[in-house]
Amino acid sequence: MALKDIKSMTLSELCADFTDNSIEKYRAKQVYEWIKKGVSSFDEMTNISLTMREVLKRKYIFYDVQIEKKLVSRKDGTVKYLFGLFDGGFIESVLMKYKYGYCVCISTQVGCKMGCVFCATGKDRFLRNLYPSEMISQIQKIQNDNNIKVSRVVMMGMGEPLDNYDNSLRFLKLVSSEDGLNIGMRHISLSTCGVVDKIYLLAREKLQLTLSVSLHAPNDELRNKIMPINRKWSIGDIIKACRYYAENTGRRISFEYAMIDGLNDKKENALELSRLLKGILCHVNLIPVNSIDESSFKKSTTNKIREFCDVLIDNGVNTTIRRTLGPDINASCGQLRQRIMVEKEQ
Ligand code: SAH
Ligand code: SF4
Repeated sequence: MALKDIKSMTLSELCADFTDNSIEKYRAKQVYEWIKKGVSSFDEMTNISLTMREVLKRKYIFYDVQIEKKLVSRKDGTVKYLFGLFDGGFIESVLMKYKYGYCVCISTQVGCKMGCVFCATGKDRFLRNLYPSEMISQIQKIQNDNNIKVSRVVMMGMGEPLDNYDNSLRFLKLVSSEDGLNIGMRHISLSTCGVVDKIYLLAREKLQLTLSVSLHAPNDELRNKIMPINRKWSIGDIIKACRYYAENTGRRISFEYAMIDGLNDKKENALELSRLLKGILCHVNLIPVNSIDESSFKKSTTNKIREFCDVLIDNGVNTTIRRTLGPDINASCGQLRQRIMVEKEQ
């Protein structure tokens, strides 16, 4: 029989499973307490007898992540982690420190199929989806490594969370559960390049999480050039889905807009964007694009970004320029970079 991924299970699922296997129910709570602490094996569960540990090892498996490398920003203490997976794959996560506490940016896939031209992950081959347990583990390993409690999570690392929908949804339920890490949905953001059918599904879950949509262009002609997914779902499709999401959940949408020099940073682009977003419960985050080796894109000048921001604000669109964290460790990362912040707007 295949081993079950124990860290992807809820406490009630584990209780039911233990009952089915004639193991006392209280054991499930004991085991779950250890899982919550982030242990990687049954042998670390010192209040479980050796015989019971052997029974459990025959039924369950731990899909964990292991710290391979760590880069600490000397400027602001942001820490980037490279994690190794059980099958030899690698992913990245980032720990950010704010006035209000700690925020972790997690990966949801190994690589990404979406191929956005400005993104380093998009240039990598897609390998596989991450399991919910592997998403949870990124947070736990970071908590344990720093002896901290993380209070916010952003799904903005490697991969497209809505292309790994079921696992991402299960992760959201586990991470927000009182039996688990107990991080409230309002403190979680999920970022998508615009997988429209899944935005509708997510809206129906009526979760209180923040949906971030990576827009990066105010019209299809421009967006087609930089984000291949736009050929499947146009900006019109995305905006319609976002309205539905905001109406169903009462939550404001966060639109991400990476400012690329000479490409999408003109005044007319800002005017077009403000017309597009008129009347939607939303917020725009302007992010200076991070140059990657594989493309020639450069970030817009600070003045250009300021002007773009002013046009949006003058036209009634709530906009901020995202603060850059860990600028000195961006250079060495696969793709996690300055973006990411959920800070002031929430
Ligand atoms: N796949 C999801 C989430 C992961 S990417 C998405 O696309 O939204 C997280 C964010 O980083 C997205 O807003 C993405 O557009 C942005 N991003 C990717 N490469 C970037 C770069 N070179 N500079 C700035 N932001 C980038
Ligand atoms: Fe994938 Fe997001 Fe990168 Fe696009 S920006 S390639 S969707 S990770």
